[in-house]
Amino acid sequence: MSLTRLVELVQARQPCVVLTGAGISTESGIPDFRSSTGIWATYDPMDYASIDAFLADPVKVWDFYAKRLDVLADAQPNEGHRALAELEERGWVSGIVTQNIDRLHERAGSRTVVEVHGSIRTSSCLDCGEVVPLAEVVRLLEDAPAPACPRCGRILKPDVVMFGEYLPPDGIAHASRLAAQAALLLVVGSSLEVHPVAGLPLETLAGGGTLAIVNRGPTPLDARAAVTIDAGAGETLRALADALPGRR
Ligand SMILES: [Zn+2]
Repeated sequence: MSLTRLVELVQARQPCVVLTGAGISTESGIPDFRSSTGIWATYDPMDYASIDAFLADPVKVWDFYAKRLDVLADAQPNEGHRALAELEERGWVSGIVTQNIDRLHERAGSRTVVEVHGSIRTSSCLDCGEVVPLAEVVRLLEDAPAPACPRCGRILKPDVVMFGEYLPPDGIAHASRLAAQAALLLVVGSSLEVHPVAGLPLETLAGGGTLAIVNRGPTPLDARAAVTIDAGAGETLRALADALPGRR
C-alpha cells in the first residue's frame, strides 16, 4: 500500500522538503491554469501573461490578471495546506517550495515557504521600485482598470513571474539548497513540467536523497520515485499526517 510506504519514507528520510504545484490548490477552487482545460486553452499566455505583453500593454494584462486576482484573493487554504502546516509544526517537514502564487501555504500556517514564481502578495513599480501590498492594489482596481504607482504613476507590475521572465534568483537558490539537502523530496500536485522547478527533484536525487510523488496523473520522474500516489493532495496529506507519530 503506497501510503504506508510514504509514511515509512517520511520517518526514515529526514529532512523532508515538500515541492507543491497547482494540484494542491485546485481543491481551494483555484483552477490549474496550465491544464488542457484551463484558461490557457482559450487565452494565449503570450498575449496576457508574458512580460513582453505587459510592457507593451499593461492595462490589457491587468484586465485579465484582475479576474484571476478575485479568485485568488477569495480562496481559502484546504486540507492539504493545513496538513503540511501541521507536519512542519510537528517537525516532519522542514520546508515547502511552491510554484503557486496564492499565499495559501502561508495562510495555512506554514513558516518556511519558498515561492519560486512570486506571489500576489505585492505589486511593484518597474520605474521607482515602490512596493504595494495586495489590499492596496485591490482598492486601486476599484477606481481604475490598472493600478498606478502611488509615487510616480506608472502602472504597477504584479510580483508574480510572468512568461519570459527569469525566476527571482534568491528564491530559486534557496529552493535548490533545500532540494539538494533533502533526504526526501515529496512532490505534491505538480506534473514537474515547468523548468527550472522541475529540475529540483534531480538535485535531491543527485545528493543521495529520495523522491516521492503525490499527483493526479503521471510525471516525467515517476520511474525515479520511491513511491508514487495518484490521488488528491488533501486526502493524501491528511492521511499522511494522521498516520505519522507525534514527533517534536
Ligand atoms: Zn513608481
